[in-house]
Formats: sequence, structure tokens, C-alpha cells
Amino acid sequence: KEKLTDKKNFEKSEKLSQTEWQNETYSWSKNVREILKSSFNIEKLRSMQLQTINATLSKHDLIYVAPTGAGKSLTYQLPALVDKGITLVVSPLISLMEDQLHSLKKRGIPAKMLSANSTKEETKIIHTILEDPLFSTSDQMKLLYVTPERMSKSKRFMQALQKCYHNAKLDRIAIDEIHSVSVLGHDFRPDYKFLGNMKTLFPNTPILGVTATASRKVLIDIQKILNIRGCIIFNSPFNRPNLYYHVIDKPSENEACYDKIADLLSNRYEGKSGIIYTFSIKDTETLTNELLKRDIKVRPYHAQLDAAERSKYYHQWMENKIQAVVATIAFGLGIDKQDVRFVIHHTMSKSMENFYQESGRCGRDGKYAESILMYRMADMFKISCMTFVESDGLKNAYSMINYAINSKKCRRDQFAKHFTEVWNDKNCGKMCDCCFHKKDVRVVKPPEIDIVEHYRSLLKILDKAKSTDTKLTALKLLDAWFQKGTKSARVDNMPPPNIDRFYGEQILVYLIINDYLREDFHYTAYSTNSYIVQGPKVPTDNDIEFNPSRVYELPPLQKLKSYFEDFNETKTPRRKSLNNDHYQFPQNKRETSNHSRDYS
Ligand code: ADP
Ligand code: MG
Ligand code: ZN
Repeated sequence: KEKLTDKKNFEKSEKLSQTEWQNETYSWSKNVREILKSSFNIEKLRSMQLQTINATLSKHDLIYVAPTGAGKSLTYQLPALVDKGITLVVSPLISLMEDQLHSLKKRGIPAKMLSANSTKEETKIIHTILEDPLFSTSDQMKLLYVTPERMSKSKRFMQALQKCYHNAKLDRIAIDEIHSVSVLGHDFRPDYKFLGNMKTLFPNTPILGVTATASRKVLIDIQKILNIRGCIIFNSPFNRPNLYYHVIDKPSENEACYDKIADLLSNRYEGKSGIIYTFSIKDTETLTNELLKRDIKVRPYHAQLDAAERSKYYHQWMENKIQAVVATIAFGLGIDKQDVRFVIHHTMSKSMENFYQESGRCGRDGKYAESILMYRMADMFKISCMTFVESDGLKNAYSMINYAINSKKCRRDQFAKHFTEVWNDKNCGKMCDCCFHKKDVRVVKPPEIDIVEHYRSLLKILDKAKSTDTKLTALKLLDAWFQKGTKSARVDNMPPPNIDRFYGEQILVYLIINDYLREDFHYTAYSTNSYIVQGPKVPTDNDIEFNPSRVYELPPLQKLKSYFEDFNETKTPRRKSLNNDHYQFPQNKRETSNHSRDYS
């Protein structure tokens, strides 16, 4: 019953009209325009920013969902300058807060931050300002950034905040990455739970939550946990029309894989700035070294580098002194580089949400950019062994894997389907590998394979393994199926399948992520292993249908040129090609070019 009410309330939030908040006739409207120009040097608000600003200044609780780079920070930074008191910003990462503080300082906006690293004196000053009954001192601190840990662990701080509230100086509580409140999401952080107390402690202070990823289910959960059921929800469309999505085959030989990436960076992406995401710190280090050996200018970025090094590499990248950062997901939140032209995933992400966010870090300037996912079967098990302990971990991983192997369906449609509850956009405009190659007669159409027989064969092999008390990894299973590897694992008189091993892998993966087979995880002293066993779906003869996908070659840039001129003009001097102005959208050729900039 409670669930039903939550849902009803949510539907109410959805109905709160977005146009209603769009006008500029509020008492603060003139002020907003002026501050936008004078403090932020911005001419025009983007899609949904005005609505969000108006609603939070009207003291409504609200959640604003918009893609990375959409400009969510402005929706609490600007109102902080309109109101007389203080805006509290809860943010998950110190580096993220430092970035924001840095840019606020440059603009002359008084902001402070409180973290485990704050000195005693600094902490005291902040408490004093919070507790000061007069408004005059809030000029020294319009925004205060804190981590959720700080809030949940420091009684002293909460006491100061309560005084601030009782002096009517706590204007709003902004919560960045608000999806972290919910265990249903992909990125739950226990300390965010504490934020559930805010509405009780500070009933008159509006909450403004922002996030780049939250499904309907997660949004309902956030409303419930924060006690803001039925609050306003604004969505900016998630589609990034200027991003070209592509999956490529990841060579199984490491050397070949490094060569492939080096080739991409020195040819296709010559003179262009990018990010390469890897699975682990070790991969980051190895890949960096291998690319350096191949004369590609890259630097690593991960949590184990010391802060000075990280900051140095980050700035070298920002200034285009290096071509790409090879990074773990530690490189992410708060990056603000507009002209990133490519993101390569050396290993897939652990969820579609993560992948969407990471790949979304390119093309923020609205111009053509590419997301390349390198896929091979072995990576699937790296991801599943890491995530299976998380709630929904496997489910999330399997959605990601499905994206990787499903090259029959428009990548955008796959995103849309995955995020269906908050975003629906079918118009791809040939900006993904599947759509691009759809009518390309030179591309060999993948065969349609009846996999029932194959499934039976695999089950037989698994039966035999079970009877001999042997555990089979996916690789061993595949080997046995193709009559390779350990003899004892093979089934006598079973001929190898009459298909390419490439399809064999895809069939196996397909059967796993669709519950025909199942991964069975076992810990060893050093690692977790995934073994394949029979899945929960009963084997029947008729209900398995499989359209194997073929991973397409990257299309020639000249072809894409008809959509996005100039992308291939890298033959001009290097310096110049690093310049933003070099990647222009063709004027009015495609409707996306008009509104890609404001995400509307
Ligand atoms: P998000 O948090 O949504 O990922 P940010 O708040 O970090 O995005 O903003 C990304 C960049 O966009 C920042 O450089 C910011 O200054 C810029 N920005 C925000 N709003 C606008 C706007 N209306 N016009 C131009 N630039 C903007
Ligand atoms: Mg942000
Ligand atoms: Zn498409």
C-alpha cells in the first residue's frame, strides 16, 4: 500500500508542469539575469536550468535530472547568490568540491568547504559564520560544501547548522549525485542515508537534488527516503545527438590491442583530445606504458597516484599538452573539458549508467565526438566477478554486456530502453554503428543461428562436468565445445559446432545473460572465479532465438563527414587541430545541430 502511495505521489510530481516555471516574471528574475552575466559570464540558460532555478527560489523541493555536462551546478550556485543566507551543498567527493570551489573563487563568489581535511581554524570560522545571527557575515560564505560523512559524523557541525536554520539563514540544501541516496541505484553510499533527516530537522529549507542518472524506480525511492514525496522532478533529455556510439572487437592478444588503440590515437584521433577508461589501476599503468612506447602522448590517472601528480596530469590534459588520459573511473566526476573528441573504453563499464556517464564526457561542446567500446568475452567475467556481490550488480553488468554484444539494435534505442522511464528518444540519425551500417551493402550480414542445438551441446558438456565433479569456466566450456583444450572435459562423439568461434562466444554470453546458463562464483585465496552451470530457464526446444551480432568496422570518417563536416581535417597543423573552432557542425544540415548545445 505504501508503495502505491509513493507511486501516486511520483505521478503527481511528473505532472507538475515544466512550462509553468519557465517565465521570467518572478521578483528575482531580473536579479537572476544580472548575476548570470556578471558573476558567471553566461549569456543564456540552458534547457531546464531556468525552471530549476525558479522552483528552488520558490522554496520547492525538487530533483533535477540532466546528463553530465548539462550545467547542474549552476542551478544551486546561482540561487545561492540571489538569496540572502547560505546554500549548503552536499557533494560526494573532495576533488569535486575543490574543483567547484576553485572555479567559484575565480569568479569572486565566496564559498567554503568542510571536510575531514579542514583545519581546526577553518572549521571554527565556518561554525562561527553558520551560527552568527546576523546576515552580514553570510557574505563571506554564500555556499558551503560538505561531504555526507561530515554531516553524519559531526554533531558539532549539525549543531551549527541548526542554529543557522533557526536564524533563517539556511536557504537551501543542494545534494549532488542524489541517486547515491538509494540502494536501488548503482552507486549507493551509506552516508547519504543520513540526509533522510534533513526534512525533519529543517522543514522549511528546500532541497534541490541533482543527478545525471536516475531511473523512475530510483527517483521514487529518493523521494521516499528524503521525505519529499511528490516533489517536483525536472528531466533534461538524455540523448546526446552529437555522440557517435560504436563497439569494436577487442583483440585477444594484448599487443594487438595496444597497437589498435595506438593506431586509433595516431590516425583517427590525431590531434584530438580524449579519455581511455580501463578496468583497473594495473591496466591503467600497463596501457599507459605501452602507448608511451608507441609514441602516443598519454598520462595515467587513478586513485593511487598522489594528488600532485594527478593534478599535474589533469592540467596537462586540460591544456592539450597530452592527447589522452588513461584512467580508472576515478577520473570522472567534475571533469570540465569541452573539446573531448573521444572516449575509448578499453574494458566495458560495470553498468549502463556508468557507461553512459563515462562516454558522455566527450562532446560537451555539442560537436561531433565518438564513444568506442572495446569488447571481448573475457572482460565479461572480470566485470561479473567484481559486481556479483553488489545488489543488482549482476543485473547491471548484464545490461552492459547486452549492449556490447547486441549490434543489431540501434545503440541509442538500447540506451532509451534501459533508461526508459526518464528518457525516450528514438532519433539516432545514423550516429551509431548499427544504424550507420544498416544499409551498407559492403557489410556482411550476420547469419541467423538456431541455437537450440548449441544449447543442448553445452548442457551435455555441463552434465558431464557435473558428474565428474569438474568446474568449467566459460573459456574451458567453450574449448570443450569446440573440441579443444582438456580432453576429459569434452563429450565423446560430439562434433564441434559448425560456426566461427566468435559466434560461439556470443552464443555463450547470450545464454548466460538470458538465464539459460548461469555464472556460479567461487572465491579462492587470491581471486573470485566464475564457473558456468545450468541456468534457471528450463531448456525447451522452441523458445530460444538468437540473432548473433557482428561487430562492425569503424566507418570511414569521410562518410561521417556528410553529417559532421570537418571532422577528418586533421592534416592541418597539429596546433590548430587542437583548437575548438576546428570542429564545426554544418549549419542547419541536421536539426540536432541547433539544439545539441542546450540538450533540449
Ligand atoms: P554537470 O554538473 O551537469 O555535469 P556542470 O555544472 O559541471 O555540469 O557544468 C558543466 C559546464 O557547463 C561548466 O563549465 C559550466 O560553467 C557550464 N555551463 C553551465 N550552464 C551553462 C550555460 N547556461 N551556458 C554555458 N555554459 C554553462
Ligand atoms: Mg556535476
Ligand atoms: Zn542508432
